[in-house]
Amino acid sequence: MAFTFHLSPFTFHLSPFTSHLSPFTFHLSPFTMDLINILPDSVANQIAAGEVVDRPASAVKELLENAMDAGATQIDLIVKDAGRTLIQVVDNGCGMSDSDARLCFERHATSKIHQADDLFAIHTMGFRGEALASIAAIAQVELRTRLHDNELGTSILIEGSHIVSQQPTACPTGTSMAVKNLFFNVPARRNFLKKDSVELSHIEEVFRRITLIHYDIAFTLNSNGRLLYDLKAGSLLQRISQLFGNPYKERFFAVEEETDIVKIKGFVGKPEFSRKTRGEQYLFVNGRFIKHPALSAAVEKAYADLLPDHSYPSYFIGLQVDPARIDVNIHPTKTEVKFVDDHALFAILRSAVKKALGQFTLATELSFDTPPEFNIPPAPKGYNPPAPKIKYNPDYNPFRTTSSQTHLNLSPKPKPIETIDTINTIGAIAPIETTTPKTASSSCLQLQSRYIVTPLSSGLAVIDQQRAHERILFDKLSQSNNQAIKQSQTLLFPVNCQFSPADADLFSELLPDLCSYGFSVEPLSQCTFVITATPADLEEDDLQGCFDQMLADYKGATMQKFSNRSQSLCASLARQMAIRPGKVLSQEEMQQLVADLFACPMADTAPSGKKIITIVKPEELLK
Ligand code: ADP
Ligand code: MG
Repeated sequence: MAFTFHLSPFTFHLSPFTSHLSPFTFHLSPFTMDLINILPDSVANQIAAGEVVDRPASAVKELLENAMDAGATQIDLIVKDAGRTLIQVVDNGCGMSDSDARLCFERHATSKIHQADDLFAIHTMGFRGEALASIAAIAQVELRTRLHDNELGTSILIEGSHIVSQQPTACPTGTSMAVKNLFFNVPARRNFLKKDSVELSHIEEVFRRITLIHYDIAFTLNSNGRLLYDLKAGSLLQRISQLFGNPYKERFFAVEEETDIVKIKGFVGKPEFSRKTRGEQYLFVNGRFIKHPALSAAVEKAYADLLPDHSYPSYFIGLQVDPARIDVNIHPTKTEVKFVDDHALFAILRSAVKKALGQFTLATELSFDTPPEFNIPPAPKGYNPPAPKIKYNPDYNPFRTTSSQTHLNLSPKPKPIETIDTINTIGAIAPIETTTPKTASSSCLQLQSRYIVTPLSSGLAVIDQQRAHERILFDKLSQSNNQAIKQSQTLLFPVNCQFSPADADLFSELLPDLCSYGFSVEPLSQCTFVITATPADLEEDDLQGCFDQMLADYKGATMQKFSNRSQSLCASLARQMAIRPGKVLSQEEMQQLVADLFACPMADTAPSGKKIITIVKPEELLK
């Protein structure tokens, strides 16, 4: 009791201890002497909510996990306005009793652990009893739930942690949790939400991470009255193709391995279907999506030389590990995990993936055994083969009866070789002689296949080739945006690009911008688009990868430094299409690149803000 005397915020009596300890407050009125306040639960919950629920997608994750923990076999997710207005999860799980229905919104209310030791054997998704308390603190929540043995269920309305009503109700068995007007009482957080299409794609990613590994449960996702996914219970491969599209069935090899420390089951992508982004890499541990750089590296290492540069394999791999061998001190909302046996796990995973790929590797070695004479090196990126020219003598007259054979002498005064003007074209690094020397006709040197060194009047310029090309492409793309006439080239073979439903919505939203750069895109179905033309002189052999990364950038934070959407899209595309370090350039290509760079108004900084050119001054050279 003595303690509560000091701790209570309502203490009016001076404690002899605090008056000695805090001389500063001594002169204050006795009513303000005690400064410490115990926060009311509603405020504490609202603060905790900041950690647990930062955007609609995190509330979706918590509700879906609760439904799975309740043993549901059918779970329906309904969202309105990307979760801003409504997030509802309906399950056919065990349901809750009247008193549990009220208790579940209390902090540290959980049915999943009873004592600290339970922490070492967690098989459920949640265990801290924080999620519902947090969600109820920042939204209006309507819970309807019924136990299987009960005739009547219960319905509770709770708003900002305060129970508004509770009454018996007739409802199906299981639970329906409807979260309305998320952040209604936290306007700051509400204002931080991104556009609906972006928030919806986050929700979709959460939905994928959960539904992929729980393929024995049926799920639906309905957004603004539109059914985006209708997933039936089945196998992992069926789930993958339900989520990503039918062609995915043929794109994977099964991985399976069982040892004392881990059970591995999943699918890894065939190398030819590798992607430019790491977007389709899914690792799960005990039914939970995780991010683990070392384990991801193990999978990628198994591919060794099977993949082209800068491309990444797709994989969906589930690991089953004894929960006692995982660090339990991990926050349930986070995706990082620590393992006791991580070195062994790494080795086992790598060899399992290698084994799965083994059969394929053998097959490719056989089919790649082409005769050396057909080994034509690929044309450099951005190179446009000039149209073939027919040499003829316009003066030649077969009926003229002179003895001189001028017709063999094609041109008495040889003209300079005609060239295609590659200046100001995208990827203008074609190895073509230019008749008019540009500013940078002085010879260039390539260092470490990454920098171009060229003399300037002020010193020696060291140019980062990738950033330089990024700048050139960026200027080209954003410039074509302003031009009334779009310069585009029709593709000989139109390319199909496929996106997830939410990404497809986002992509449709960006179409006007893409068209203004010179792309021609037509929707084929809800999720598939056909690209029939690209900006003039643009050579990009992986449009799908390019757009995937563009969407990823657009959703992420990378775009925020640009003043408008179009600029950020141009920057993203330019980054995708620019030549990479490691690309060996010919003398002509380097000169062209340098000339094009110096034609840009902001030649010294890349669109990302990074420096392109460093000048080594003559004095420094002297030293
Ligand atoms: P945790 O999941 O960490 O236990 P939550 O705040 O998410 O904490 O949930 C609190 C409790 O409410 C759960 O432990 C569970 O007993 C109950 N609960 C929540 N959602 C459901 C549901 N859909 N069906 C049945 N019980 C549920
Ligand atoms: Mg939970």
